[in-house]
Amino acid sequence: MERTDGQLSAHSGTDKQHLLQQLFSDMLEDIYYAEKHLTKALPKMSKACTTGELRQAFDEHLEQTEMHVARLERVFGLLGRKAKARKCEAIEGLTKEAEDLKKETEKNTLTRDVALIAAGQKVEHYEIATYGTLVQLASNMHLNEVVSLLEETLKEEKAADLKLTSIAEHSVNWQALEAEG
Ligand code: FE
Ligand code: ZN
Ligand code: FE
Repeated sequence: MERTDGQLSAHSGTDKQHLLQQLFSDMLEDIYYAEKHLTKALPKMSKACTTGELRQAFDEHLEQTEMHVARLERVFGLLGRKAKARKCEAIEGLTKEAEDLKKETEKNTLTRDVALIAAGQKVEHYEIATYGTLVQLASNMHLNEVVSLLEETLKEEKAADLKLTSIAEHSVNWQALEAEG
C-alpha cells in the first residue's frame, strides 16, 4: 500500500513484521504441542470405535499425525531453532470433550462412532484453521520451504476431515438411525 508518511510507515512496518514473526512462532509452538498431544489421543479414540472403518481412519491419521510432528520439527530446524511446545488449551479441551463423549455413549454402538467422528472433526477443523494461518504468515515472510511443509500437512488435515465426513454420510449416521433410531 502507498503511504505518504514515509518514515513513520517504515518504522511501523518493521514493528508489524516483528509482531507477525512472534505470532507465527507462538502458533508454531502451539500446534507442535497439539500434534504431539494427538499422537497420544488418537490411539484412545481408535480403541473406542465400533466400526472397523472408523478405527482404520483414526489409525491412518495417527500415522499422518506422526509425520506432522516430524514436519514441524523440520520447520523449527529451517528457522534455526530447536522444536519447542507451548501448551495448547484448545487441543486439551477438544480431546477432553472426546473423552467425555466416549463416557456418555455406549460401547459397540454406532452412536459412539457418530460421537467420535464429531470429536475428530472438531480437532481437524482446529488444525486446518491453525495451519491455514501459519501458511499465510510463512508466505508473507517468504519462507518458501516452510510454506511447502505446512501446506503438505494442511492438505492431509483437510483430507482427514473429508474422510470422516464421508464415513458419517455413507455408513455410520445411516446405520445409527436404522439400529437405534
Ligand atoms: Fe495434524
Ligand atoms: Zn492452541
Ligand atoms: Fe489432524
